[in-house]
Amino acid sequence: MRPGVNRLLRVLAIAPVTALVAVAPATVAHAQASPGSTAPSPYVVCVDPGHGGAPDNSDPSKQFDPGAIGVGGLQEKGIALDIGLGLRTLLERDGVTVAMTRADDRFASIAAREQICEDAHAKLFVSIHLNYFDDPAVGGSLVLYPSATYLPFATTMAQSLGRDLAPAHIQSDGTQLRDNWWSHVTMPTVTVEGAYLTNPEEAAWLATSAGRRQLAKAIFDGIETYDPNIAKHKAALSAWTAAHPATTAGGDKAVAGRSQSNAGIVWLCLAGLALAGGLIGWRRHRRLGSPLAPVSISLGRNPRAKSRTSDAAVLSAMLGLNIWRRHQQRRRRRAVWRRAQAYRESRYVRPHVG
Ligand SMILES: [Zn+2]
Repeated sequence: MRPGVNRLLRVLAIAPVTALVAVAPATVAHAQASPGSTAPSPYVVCVDPGHGGAPDNSDPSKQFDPGAIGVGGLQEKGIALDIGLGLRTLLERDGVTVAMTRADDRFASIAAREQICEDAHAKLFVSIHLNYFDDPAVGGSLVLYPSATYLPFATTMAQSLGRDLAPAHIQSDGTQLRDNWWSHVTMPTVTVEGAYLTNPEEAAWLATSAGRRQLAKAIFDGIETYDPNIAKHKAALSAWTAAHPATTAGGDKAVAGRSQSNAGIVWLCLAGLALAGGLIGWRRHRRLGSPLAPVSISLGRNPRAKSRTSDAAVLSAMLGLNIWRRHQQRRRRRAVWRRAQAYRESRYVRPHVG
């Protein structure tokens, strides 16, 4: 091997490390230098339209759940979805990020709904249902909550429903603890039973889009009254948008794009390292003529060759091992999560009987 070629290989191997070392502090420095350069972190509300899904004749095993059926065949799943979509529109207008557990007519398990809200890091969770009863004279709104911790949210919501729906003659029945519903979510949670599908007046009101909009607005008012941080977040977002007109159009996409390109640089450097390390190992392997030679050199077992061992080859072997270990860890974590999910599905008590 000519010394010139050897030096070139070493430079090739070290260059990506140098680039990594140079890029990392630069990124940190940039973040520290301009604290106002990032948009306010999103305020997320999880909206859950209850029930959903239709029977599929070609696939009888497919799950579906229309919910309660009311006066005139009114289906709870469709009413709940329309109210949920209306609520999303209102919240998004105020700068809130909305995570929907379903945005169309599909079946979703309770565990899957809970997971969506958890994954979205929602600050609040509202499940939308409509009530039913044997006696058609029974009517009104009711707010259920899964734990005493969330009573303040439920109380605020019940007050908002009572106030906003009074013009539609829908009385508030207050709040009720139901601790076997939504027991796995970790944010303030309420289930709104907006009105009775079995009460003829309330069903007629729910059948109109104006009625459903009114109910969505009452829930929206309950959410915004409960947490004044939504108004503060909206103000901060407006201020940031005014100060950053050029970046607003991209918004979250611009931030995502930046982190993607950073990840791209890191991967490129790792690939460069692996390539250079492999090249050096291959050259030594050819010269020493043993299939195990590159390995023994890397591990320093061959004292004769040790002095010529490339640092880059050892480094890339360690990096590769580290990446493989992390991959294995992720696989194990995913398996544990899947087992926990299956367990939750198997023991879950369905939150609505009708
Ligand atoms: Zn329901």
